[in-house]
Amino acid sequence: MQLVRQKGKLRAYRVRAALVSLVVAALGSGCAAEGPPEAPRSARPAAEKEARRGPQAQKPDARKAREAAGGGSAHREKAAISQKARAAAAKKWGLERTPLAAPPPPAVKPRITTRKGFEVKGGEGLPPVFTTVPTKEKIVFLTIDDGAEKDPELLRMMSDLRIPYSAFLSDYVINDDYGYFEKMRDGGVALHNHTLNHPYLPGLSYAEQKREICGQQDKLEKRYGSRPRLMRPPYGNYNKDTLRVAKKCGIEAVPLWASEAFPDHMEWREWDRDLHPGDIILTHFRGEEDWAGSMPDMIRRVMRTITEKGYAVARLEDYV
Ligand SMILES: [Zn+2]
Repeated sequence: MQLVRQKGKLRAYRVRAALVSLVVAALGSGCAAEGPPEAPRSARPAAEKEARRGPQAQKPDARKAREAAGGGSAHREKAAISQKARAAAAKKWGLERTPLAAPPPPAVKPRITTRKGFEVKGGEGLPPVFTTVPTKEKIVFLTIDDGAEKDPELLRMMSDLRIPYSAFLSDYVINDDYGYFEKMRDGGVALHNHTLNHPYLPGLSYAEQKREICGQQDKLEKRYGSRPRLMRPPYGNYNKDTLRVAKKCGIEAVPLWASEAFPDHMEWREWDRDLHPGDIILTHFRGEEDWAGSMPDMIRRVMRTITEKGYAVARLEDYV
């Protein structure tokens, strides 16, 4: 993580590609400090940006169709009311600015494809792996991983603020209190797969990966009543078997992340160290013994970045 912080030094690199692969590698370990680093990928920033913003972008007529269907004015009215409540909640929870309201969800979900450089050989037809959802809206998605810290304040804060987020859960850290995530689910948060034991998946056989991924599918379905559609591999590491196994047990998409939030800073995957429409933000269920603040501190910090940059947080499951 040192790499990302040495902004000044990194800027001096003449070859942008070198910079990108460094940042990607540094951020790749995001899920946990103890994790193995992400395998270097061929980073082609310009081409990637083209690919991200080009053909996958949401059809421009999607919004028109939505408004024609009568969703427009009703949504605006509702949104105004909930923005008032959100402003009061922002004050209560110590946010500097009121989080912006997300636009209504698209009538049709965008077509998502694997990010360039993130493909596996022969992976056609397998769940897409991506870090940004194709959209032109100024929205980002908040995803929280693992599940070690179970801070009741987080549940209250997020429901007061009406900020959507998605949880990617690993059984070995949630199994001492499944009830916490039941409350989270009851608050409208979707619970997704992050394996049983948080292993480095490419180091496992097909059968072992199946146990980790499908085992967690079964467990989450049994505990929480619905089978996840999304899976995030620990540390962002995967291979073809990971995606084959995931597809086999009901996973439709594999969202990674474009940036990572901490209570005191952000870490960025992209060379421009900025947010982009549709970016997925990763953070973790961690407490003050693991990082420089509480879960509410982390939310205050990441929301400051998101709101200052003019973005709203949207619900990942509305787009994926
Ligand atoms: Zn993790």
